[in-house]
Formats: sequence, C-alpha cells, structure tokens
Amino acid sequence: MNNPGIFSNPCAFCKQREAERLCDYITDYHRTPIFFRDYRMFKESNEKGNDSSCDLPLCKMCSNHINGADLCPYHYDLYKQAKDIPQHLRKYQHRERKRLIEGDKLNES
Ligand SMILES: [Zn+2]
Ligand SMILES: [Zn+2]
Repeated sequence: MNNPGIFSNPCAFCKQREAERLCDYITDYHRTPIFFRDYRMFKESNEKGNDSSCDLPLCKMCSNHINGADLCPYHYDLYKQAKDIPQHLRKYQHRERKRLIEGDKLNES
C-alpha cells in the first residue's frame, strides 16, 4: 500500500501519496510593462501567467490552500512571514490600497 513506487508522480514532500497539484507560489516575476504598448496588453500578459511558480508536486495532505492557490509546506512558511509586514509600515499599505480602489472607481465611470 505505502510503496511510493506505485505512483507515477509522488508528492515531493511526503512521497507517500500521489501528487494532485503543483505549488502556485510565485518564485519569479516577469512583468516588464516597458515592453507593452498599453495597460491592457500588460494585464493580459500577467493573466496568462508569465510568472514562474514553484511547481513542486503536492498531494492533498501536503498542500496548503490559500485563496485558490496551493502552497507547498516550504512556501507556506514563507507566505506567512511575508504577509506579516511590520506594524509601522501598514499605514502606508492601507493608504495605497485605498488609492488603488478609488482609482479603479474613477476608471470605471
Ligand atoms: Zn504529500
Ligand atoms: Zn513551493
């Protein structure tokens, strides 16, 4: 039963179960707006997924499901650290997010 040899694609972490998904953590960003004629092209390129992701094979048990993405245990730890920015920087983050939301509203109308 627990022979990893029976899996064609074993999970990279436990090696006990078949991998069903890949880690979606972005390890490198390929977003260079300078090469795009306009914002629409830039946006489409991002949506088509030009970024490099970790892509380690994961089983259901080893993957951490975060807002529609699957993260391997290694990147889940990083994700938790990266999310918690120091308190004194958060007010700038909130200010920019507010500006982005207000900017979107202006563009829509
Ligand atoms: Zn696993
Ligand atoms: Zn990963």
